[in-house]
Amino acid sequence: TVHLVWFRQDLRITDNLALAAACNKDDAKVIALFIATPVQWRSHSMAARQAWFIREQVVLLRRSLGEKGIPLYYLRAADFADSVSKLAAFCEAQSVSHLFYNYQYELNERRRDGQAEQLLSGKVTCQGFDDSVLLPPGSVLTGNNEMFRVFTPFSKAFLRRLREMPPQCVPAPRARGPAISDDTPVEFDYPLQPVDTAQFPPGEKAALQKLRTFCQQQVQDYQQQRDFPAQDGTSMLSPWLATGALSPRQCFQRLLAEHPHAMELEGGAAVWLNELIWREFYRHLLVAWPALCQHRPFIGWTDNVTWSHDKALLAAWQQGKTGYPIVDAAMRQLNTTGWMHNRLRMITASFLTKDLLIDWREGERWFMEQLLDGDFAANNGGWQWAASTGTDAAPYFRIFNPETQSTRFDVQGAFIRQWLPELSLVPASAIHNPWKWADKQGVALDYPRPVVDHKTARLHTLAAWEAAREKM
Ligand code: FAD
Repeated sequence: TVHLVWFRQDLRITDNLALAAACNKDDAKVIALFIATPVQWRSHSMAARQAWFIREQVVLLRRSLGEKGIPLYYLRAADFADSVSKLAAFCEAQSVSHLFYNYQYELNERRRDGQAEQLLSGKVTCQGFDDSVLLPPGSVLTGNNEMFRVFTPFSKAFLRRLREMPPQCVPAPRARGPAISDDTPVEFDYPLQPVDTAQFPPGEKAALQKLRTFCQQQVQDYQQQRDFPAQDGTSMLSPWLATGALSPRQCFQRLLAEHPHAMELEGGAAVWLNELIWREFYRHLLVAWPALCQHRPFIGWTDNVTWSHDKALLAAWQQGKTGYPIVDAAMRQLNTTGWMHNRLRMITASFLTKDLLIDWREGERWFMEQLLDGDFAANNGGWQWAASTGTDAAPYFRIFNPETQSTRFDVQGAFIRQWLPELSLVPASAIHNPWKWADKQGVALDYPRPVVDHKTARLHTLAAWEAAREKM
């Protein structure tokens, strides 16, 4: 028998359910495959940074698998449909008897897997695994057996299930034969943009080390620090979780190893676990409401909102030139590093959709094109939350005031100064609204004036939403 592991968004050998299952039988020959799909990636707006991160991790994965005597083959297809044909041909050529893979929950990915299973049926036994989640979608439901529409009751039910059946990690496979080395270049035919490897070193070893340090030294302060972008208060593990170089079970088990009461007691560890549950919530939602994968808002009537199509305003937001320092600093962090702090994702998303009244899908796409940790479920969930079109959304009349947010979460303006050197001479008391100060002082700033007035924009947005509601 020949067991094939089809790697996609699960680029690791530790705690990989499909790989572990494939290696269960000692006498099976185990081989692995990764298929690049650049045309599909482009249509999903995958960031060049994420493509680079994945490429680096495929190379590392090939090395780790090689050390276990498992060869990783690499193929290039155009889109998902093409990847299914290439997979079928590969199975035929390699006499594959069993296919093991980890589920992805987005609609195109699920259709691809359905097509692959259909094409292989009768020839190859296929088995999929719920590997990228703590609990499988569909396993945490309301009393009426429906998916929750609101996060808090979901997270309570989720925690109950977690306590009953805490998911365990599976070890990396044992060596199955002599080590294999393969240095042929892995080329994606996709733009690749390297990131700062001191901050984001590719690979599962780096991820596990970072996870350990975070759970040992930082998670206890997470609750106090996580909202302040100038502080190093969150794990920054999202790029590895998004590409599957790290699993949520590894996060959960490491957290419990350091903080055994994370599921019972309040505090930093419990709050961090709650963030992991947010990640699960958005994944479970995609399976219950696949229309989320088709650019649909969760709350249908919100499509009646007449969005602005002002290209200049969109560009100002994208480039970090809105004249609102907290928004601009955040966008420059994103555009430069490929990562943005969660508080800032909320502020910038609110600014685009509520202050500029630009369609959340524009922001969703721009984020995907920039983010190293771009993850469809979390990004779509985050955007719909901020735009008030989603599940558990902030009501549309609750509109962030960017200046107030800035004053609360970047009190001294340390984060703003890090990204906007042109404001270095502005005193701390004026950093959140520098033009007010500059005009009084008669100082000329090399910085844009606010592209909109928040108070006026707020009233305009409220009117647009009320008009949309009347059309319901
Ligand atoms: P930590 O605070 O250390 O949290 C640990 C992990 O929990 C994260 O790595 C992430 O996997 C998960 N997580 C935390 N918060 C959330 C959340 N609100 N929703 C879902 N999962 C969460 N996250 C992504 O991974 N990819 C995205 O493309 C993405 N886009 C977003 C867009 C918007 C508009 C918003 C508001 C949020 C988005 N998030 C996204 C969620 C969140 O901002 C990031 O997961 C977080 O900032 C990553 O930093 P961290 O690893 O230090 O998180």
